[in-house]
Amino acid sequence: MLDRLGDIPHLRPGDDGYDASRSVWNAIVEHRPAVIVRPTTVEQVQQVVRLAREHDLLLGIRCGGHSAVGHSVPDQGLMLDLTALNAVRVDPRAQRARVQGGALLGALDRATQRHGLAVTAGNVSHTGVSGLTLGGGFGWLARKFGLACDNVESFRLVTADGTLVTASATEHPDLYWGLRGGGGNFGVVTEFEMRLHETGTRSLTVEVDFALDEGVEVMGRWRDLLPDAPREATFTADIGAAGVLTVGYVWTGDPDFDGTAAAALVPQIRALGRAPLAERVLDRSYLDLQTQADVVHAHSLRRYSKSHYLADFPDAAVEAFVLRGSPDGRPDGDVPLPTVGLQAYGGAVADVPDEDSAFSHRGTLVEYGGGLVWEDPALDAPYVASARRAGRALEPYASGVYVNAMSDEGAAGVRRAYSADKLARLTALKDAWDPDNVFRLNANIPPSAA
Ligand code: FAD
Repeated sequence: MLDRLGDIPHLRPGDDGYDASRSVWNAIVEHRPAVIVRPTTVEQVQQVVRLAREHDLLLGIRCGGHSAVGHSVPDQGLMLDLTALNAVRVDPRAQRARVQGGALLGALDRATQRHGLAVTAGNVSHTGVSGLTLGGGFGWLARKFGLACDNVESFRLVTADGTLVTASATEHPDLYWGLRGGGGNFGVVTEFEMRLHETGTRSLTVEVDFALDEGVEVMGRWRDLLPDAPREATFTADIGAAGVLTVGYVWTGDPDFDGTAAAALVPQIRALGRAPLAERVLDRSYLDLQTQADVVHAHSLRRYSKSHYLADFPDAAVEAFVLRGSPDGRPDGDVPLPTVGLQAYGGAVADVPDEDSAFSHRGTLVEYGGGLVWEDPALDAPYVASARRAGRALEPYASGVYVNAMSDEGAAGVRRAYSADKLARLTALKDAWDPDNVFRLNANIPPSAA
């Protein structure tokens, strides 16, 4: 089969660069593909999909490599590494970007910000545009401009039989519906046409620290601020490794300090508790905001996390969040409690009618994520258990999960990610476009015959 790859760049075990190319964000992923193919043209992508199918090879598609369980790295299969197809072309007049399927968020942000434009992306610039957008795509601009997937005008897609199709509101609208939230189940996206917005180039981040012993009160008041928050502001809350609660918000768009629009909320955040320990008000460029978490979330460390969507955040959930799966909010022995965080949804995400796209849970109030990071493989079991305990404590209050934030939940996670109606519609779409489940290394929607 390998001889049929011809001059399509590829790497086999033992080749220089093979190990670097198979390694992804989460160092727990130790998969070894039989071959890593790195196409430089869309025609080559079509050829590779046909080859994988003919030879019944497990196919994995890599963009940013951020899938926490290594969905982009098929063990003993064919890894279709799209990273050479990473161009971003911006038409500032039309306010559109054409983004190739291997581009990272940083490339998209840099290309659009040159013109004072942007589209919703995630919070870490080495994340892939493809994986993020196909699952939804939440970021600091989402409350104002919708999810990344809400801003896709059209997709170019290589389907399971190697055909190149366009999916938009007018061409294959069924696929267009499924690609906005349904993940990589229907083909290899080679290009996204995205709508851009005038966002300016600045941002403001406000963070106020409180001791955990007033955590429940602070978080209850934080929750009560959410319904009236302006769309420019995304409220955040985190409990970090040091066991300090940090609450605040990120403001996108030019902060109008004289008019105090962006800074107006600062006193309200300070007043959430009796005794703020410290505060940070960071006025910086949007590009700096978009890269500030890159190092904390760097590649090549071992990681595990759990996530939930919460449509409400009742007092009992507030308490579970603060306790992090521990009866008294303290770690048991040497194993740390996970770092946990919340990010507020709402605004433009909730404006889009639920039936318009495969993405579910538009009524989410906050998204929870809690996880740990470590280096020594001997710590895998206790660290994973700690993150799971904290996640389990919040489960009774959860309304679902973000498909892109799943870890090892498998089919049960997919059922939480979509409503029953959407899952049925996605299955019908899978039957129509990928009945043999060629694209199965993902949050899989199995065809009904499987
Ligand atoms: P990959 O592992 O390359 O791909 C993920 C999945 O998408 C795989 O199943 C893969 O096969 C499929 N895929 C990739 N490219 C294509 C393609 N071109 N066509 C078809 N299928 C494809 N999500 C948010 O919404 N907002 C955030 O702010 C955010 N921050 C994150 C920060 C970090 C550090 C991490 C690890 C994740 C974050 N996520 C966020 C979740 C992120 O959206 C998902 O992990 C997403 O799947 C990553 O996409 P990727 O291209 O980097 O990953």
